[in-house]
Amino acid sequence: MNRNDILREMGLGPVWKLRATPPQAPAEAIAVAAAVAVEAVAQDVPVVAPIVPIVPAAPAAAMDWDELAATVAACRQCRLGETRKQAVLGVGDRNADWLFVGEGPGAEEDERGEPFVGQAGKLLDNMLAAIGLRRGEDVYIANAVKCRPPENRTPAPEEAAACRPYLERQIELLQPKLIVALGRPAAQTLLQSEVKIAAARGKLHDYRGIPVIVTYHPAYLLRTLPDKARAWEDLCFMKRTMQERKGG
Ligand code: SF4
Ligand code: URA
Repeated sequence: MNRNDILREMGLGPVWKLRATPPQAPAEAIAVAAAVAVEAVAQDVPVVAPIVPIVPAAPAAAMDWDELAATVAACRQCRLGETRKQAVLGVGDRNADWLFVGEGPGAEEDERGEPFVGQAGKLLDNMLAAIGLRRGEDVYIANAVKCRPPENRTPAPEEAAACRPYLERQIELLQPKLIVALGRPAAQTLLQSEVKIAAARGKLHDYRGIPVIVTYHPAYLLRTLPDKARAWEDLCFMKRTMQERKGG
């Protein structure tokens, strides 16, 4: 593995790209990321499931919804932007108490520009209905990455890192009372750590003071019936948690 490969593995590809366009990334962030990378290379640190330094893909932190939507629609901060038909920002009630976060758009979402409209989406809608929720009513649905990974592969760490500022800004704008991470990529993006669903479910995690509940991705549940019972437990846990957050 050469140095560039290591940097890419660490999710630092976008940093080097941003270097060419300085106004987009704070100098300190570039310096920190570069120092981490150089040190890792110097020490021959094994590159494992990188939890990458967060460098904003764009100054997403100050955007309102319209700016965010326009920026994401035109975004090319990672290579998923080259193959998508359209970016999929999210859908739903912008005052929602509930935020559900999936992995990334699939083929149908890429066509229609809305998250979870395929088979997995039908199951998600049923899961929502099971706890008295409906898409768009007190619920916002987004994904960890906004562009479809080719062949529906799992987003690479550097792709998730490049896209993360958009999700962060969505969360800031929404101020949800509870975030539900659907599957491992969503959970890892939100919690910035290695997550195993079996160990992480049934607990309250934290994203900047907002409780996070981790559960199985609906596409996984479609393939793995036995875990549907566990998913049901998770739904009950979510509902209870929200009731407590709303004060009964
Ligand atoms: Fe931009 Fe995210 Fe799409 Fe990558 S996945 S091009 S960071 S919007
Ligand atoms: N799977 C996801 O994670 N997100 C979608 O939007 C659709 C399927």
